[in-house]
This record gives sequence, C-alpha cells and structure tokens, in this order.
Amino acid sequence: MARKNVIPVFVPHAGCPHACVFCNQRRISGASEPATAETVRRAAEGWRGGPCDLAFYGGSFTALPDERQEELLGAAQPFLSLHPGNALRLSTRPDAVDDAVIGRLLQYGVKTVELGVQSMDGRVLTLSERGNTPEDAERAAGLVKDAGLALILQMMTGLPGDTPDTSRYTARKLIDLKPDGVRIYPTVVVRDTALWDMYRRGAYREHTVEDAVSLCAALVPMFQAAGIPVIRLGLNPTEELSAGGAAAGAYHPALGELVFRRIYLERARALLRGAGAFGRTVTLGVPRGRLSLMTGQRRSNIRVLMREFRLERLDVRESENAEIVILDIEKHG
Ligand code: SF4
Repeated sequence: MARKNVIPVFVPHAGCPHACVFCNQRRISGASEPATAETVRRAAEGWRGGPCDLAFYGGSFTALPDERQEELLGAAQPFLSLHPGNALRLSTRPDAVDDAVIGRLLQYGVKTVELGVQSMDGRVLTLSERGNTPEDAERAAGLVKDAGLALILQMMTGLPGDTPDTSRYTARKLIDLKPDGVRIYPTVVVRDTALWDMYRRGAYREHTVEDAVSLCAALVPMFQAAGIPVIRLGLNPTEELSAGGAAAGAYHPALGELVFRRIYLERARALLRGAGAFGRTVTLGVPRGRLSLMTGQRRSNIRVLMREFRLERLDVRESENAEIVILDIEKHG
C-alpha cells in the first residue's frame, strides 16, 4: 500500500461505548474537544496538493450516533472534491461494524477502515475490559474486505494477561485476516486510566520499552514475511505523554527505530553465526539508507557483535542488496 499524506482529525473517545483499561484518548491524541463539522473543515484547509487522506482517529467512529457520523463525513465531502486521489479513512472498534455501517462508509467515500483489534486472545480482551471478542474482529475484517475497502489492523502488546506467546498468536491471526497493513502499539500506562490504577496497586506489571523492542523485533518479521507492511510501531509522541502523561510502559518517541535496530542486530547475528565468523574480520552490506539501523545508537550494535563474536574488525557499508549480507569475511593476519 503506497504511503499517502494524511490529515488527522481526532475524535477523542467519541462514540466509544467502553472504557478499555489502557485508554485515555484525550491524553493519547493530545486533543480535548470532540470533533465537529467545523473541525473537519479547518483540518481540510491543511491540504497542500496531491492525493491525501483525511483520517478520523482516536475514537470509535462508527459507534457515534448516525447523525454525528453523517455530520463529520458530510463536512469532509468538499475535501474529496479537491483531488481525485483524496479519500477518507477512520479507525473504529470491531464490534461497531455491520452492513449498515459499511454502506454509509461507502456512500461517503471512505476508502480505509482501521480496526482496533488489540488482541485475538479472548482472555486478554476481557482483562483489558475491551468489550469485544476475537470473533468480532474476524467478522468486521471480513465485512471491510468484502466491501472492497482497505483494511488496517491494530494490535497491542503487553496488555493485562498478555505474554509473548499470546502476542505471536495475535500476529498470526491478524496475518490470516490478510490486512493491507498493521499498526503495533505496545502498551503504555497512561495517567488517569484504569491501567494506571492497576499498575500502582501492583495488579499489572509494566511492559517496558525493552520488553516491547524485543517482542516487536520478533513480530515485525512475521508480518514482513507475509507481505504485510507494519505502518506504525508505538504511540505517536505528544507533548502531554512526554511530559509525564505516559507514567510507565513502552513509551518511547522513537520506538520504531529501536525495533528496527534490534531486527538488524538479530539478522546480523544470524548471518555471522551461520558464516562461522568468530574471531574474523567481517564487512557487512546493508540496504541503502539503513546504515544507522545496523550500527545502532553510538555504534551499540557493532559493539555487541564485536564482543559476542570476538571479531577482529567489523565494517558496515551500504550495498545494493535488499537485505543485510556479508560482503567480505577474512581471517585476521
Ligand atoms: S475502544 Fe478505543 S476509544 Fe474506546 S476506550 Fe477502547 S481504546 Fe479507547
């Protein structure tokens, strides 16, 4: 799926009939007032030419009262006429999608639906007070795809009751639903949420940045192998979250970068092991523009590999290959 410019319109908590333990949409989106037709019109003024999506994020759009949905979608219609490539997208809950909803989305030119699946493990969903089931996700994903709409699935890691195994299970089930892309959101303990209370009384162990990085470094390759792009890793940083709104958990403004550095480290490790590189001088080739992912922050990946494989020297340079490769390996001296 080609990346397009996106103008976000946040509808914090709007339409949501539930209170998932981890959610405080007002803090996560940085917006405080519910979106109105005027909000949509003002957001659309941000269009700078070229194909662009106007995206309703942050709530459960299709759980809004019908007339609110129509007000917001109607206000977006002039935006659609600005360019033939302009489209609407929105995020919602799997249990707020049915035939009538899909019919409305098609009528108003919505092209992409993002479903907050979060987990395909029923127990994890229950403990997170999600209020929907894995079957809801399967049914909603089927309706979205049957209607010819693009489907993006969102999953979380580190929810109450979650383990690396349940996350891998969720990833496999998401792959089976054949989405056009996925977003992975490791759990952040946001202030003023039920999860924050659970965390403070010891009923929830935080999913640390390191937990999230090592787990996502295993999940991302699963999606990549299935040809499914991972279009987001971790919450978008906001001033409020960075200023303490994120009380604990996997909040890091560059989480995606940390995950990809780890993936490169693991791939290089496997290559060096397979090549019996212990004690040698090695040159690795990495795809163009990926040098910093391979070397890591302040060459941390290089230091780890040098130490683990007792390498004489490890050089890294860009190559035309799409994957990391060993360009040269020689015994020192
Ligand atoms: S369904 Fe979405 S908006 Fe509603 S409480 Fe859960 S995470 Fe928040």
